[in-house]
Amino acid sequence: MEKADTPLQQVQTNIAQACKLARRKVEEITLVAVSKTHPAEAIEPLLLEGQRHFGENRVQEAQGKWPALREAHPAVQLHLIGQLQSNKADDAVELFDVIHSLDRPSLVKALAKAMDKTGRRVPCFVQVDVGEEDQKGGCPVAELPALLELARDADLPLAGLMCIPPFDIEPAPFFAFLDKLARDHGLEGRSMGMSGDYETAIKLGSTHVRVGTALFGERFQATQH
Ligand SMILES: *Cc1c(COP(=O)(O)O)cnc(C)c1O
Repeated sequence: MEKADTPLQQVQTNIAQACKLARRKVEEITLVAVSKTHPAEAIEPLLLEGQRHFGENRVQEAQGKWPALREAHPAVQLHLIGQLQSNKADDAVELFDVIHSLDRPSLVKALAKAMDKTGRRVPCFVQVDVGEEDQKGGCPVAELPALLELARDADLPLAGLMCIPPFDIEPAPFFAFLDKLARDHGLEGRSMGMSGDYETAIKLGSTHVRVGTALFGERFQATQH
């Protein structure tokens, strides 16, 4: 009997299928495995399967889990996908390889300062509040041009745009909107799509899908979202 696919293999197959339908190359998509709330023992199997990009939403939790895991797997790329307080900018720049939640002028300043201090240049996605929901963070659409200009003036490496569409409504229009915004502003990356909608997001231009539940199962701990 053939062995059943692992969750990672299933997600990879779905990504490949979505790419085929969208006439895109799988290499255009980075799968970020969202390991927030999950302990090292749950992360190890994915590392052993070759997964390299991981997402965490809290600086402190990541500081506890990742230094040891990284020692064994130095090629790991850590993505910060949760809201970031300016006073944690130094810690975030030290630990993370990509930040997906740049959303306000004060954070541009804090991150620029942290990057100057540490000498690390960490690519940042600007999170856009596509659903006009304050609690998830994100820059209001109307303020995006000014924020991008500020980030460019501060010489922050800009990776692209990120969004978390409102829960429980059809996400496709929000993905299409983020794709258009990124194009209008000449940005490559689109961080969009989670367990329930990453295939849709890929069809609409996503370059970074952030997938937790489909890889790790349900989270039992409360999280920010
Ligand atoms: C938790 C989280 C995810 C992963 O969500 P799943 O539905 O478990 O795939 C993706 N993006 C962000 C910003 C998150 O906080």
